[in-house]
Amino acid sequence: KCTLESANELNLDVSVDASLSLWYRSDVQTCTPWRAPIIWEGMFDPERYDKLHKTEGSSVALTVFAIGRYLDAYLGNFLRSSEQHFMLGLPVCYYVFTDAPERVPLIKLGPQRSLKVIKVAKHSRWQDISMMRMKTISDVVESDIRHHFTHVFCFDVDQVFTGRFGSEVLGDSVALLHAYYYHLDQYWYTYDRNQKSTAYMESGDFYYHAAIFGGTWKSVKALTDFCYKNIMEDKQNNVEAVWHDESHLNKYFWLHKPSRVLSPEYCWDTEIGYRRDIRTHRLLWATKQYDKLRRP
Ligand code: UDP
Ligand code: MN
Repeated sequence: KCTLESANELNLDVSVDASLSLWYRSDVQTCTPWRAPIIWEGMFDPERYDKLHKTEGSSVALTVFAIGRYLDAYLGNFLRSSEQHFMLGLPVCYYVFTDAPERVPLIKLGPQRSLKVIKVAKHSRWQDISMMRMKTISDVVESDIRHHFTHVFCFDVDQVFTGRFGSEVLGDSVALLHAYYYHLDQYWYTYDRNQKSTAYMESGDFYYHAAIFGGTWKSVKALTDFCYKNIMEDKQNNVEAVWHDESHLNKYFWLHKPSRVLSPEYCWDTEIGYRRDIRTHRLLWATKQYDKLRRP
């Protein structure tokens, strides 16, 4: 049996919770084969995590890209909801990357929370906008984040926080189970099966969702460098991974196992409908508007 606490990298004294079996879910997989916790509602005491991370001095940089039409469509709701639910009580800085800084909405921020807007170029293909985030994140971790924050979390903008997204997710290297694949057999995972791509993989552990990844700044730097290097190598060979940055992310986490895995409660799509094992919604996919947003 693996409780969240017994596999915790923070090495808490967890004998109390563990012996009482208070924080345990028997209806879902709570531990990876390499003994990293998979975090589900009911597996942790939020207050203890918050206290611990305050004591440790944890602080979080959140990166989010809002380029082209995605800015007006999503950024306001993303940031407003994040102010209600993301890492309350810890120092947080939003790093907003956009091609139109003047259109970033003014949001009232809580204490110890700040926002930086960084102008980036707009690639013409949406695939490149998505993939090139890896390079931009790596650069800003190196030039800025690593001097000010212990952890980094990277988010797609087309989502809305609806529940606590707190310090229980902080770990060395953090991946998210994709809501559409977590209950399916490997056979269905959409890894890149093209042997010409650096993202090629035959089998893996899980299918991870690139909409959220994070960890210590060091781990995020390593992840983004790996993905960017492989994306560029593919470009030189005139290939593109089937799901772009997500394919490379899956390859990275296959080779470098995450130390913490988030259940799909951390990024759910209500289109999927009711699932008994999804006990809470912490973040929901916003409505996709590909026809409107992805046209050149
Ligand atoms: N993105 C953007 N402008 C674009 C395309 C993508 O800002 O024109 C950013 C945005 O943060 C978005 C992320 O890249 O959430 C990934 O793209 P998208 O959400 O469309 O991918 P999907 O979730 O459908 O895989
Ligand atoms: Mn998205």
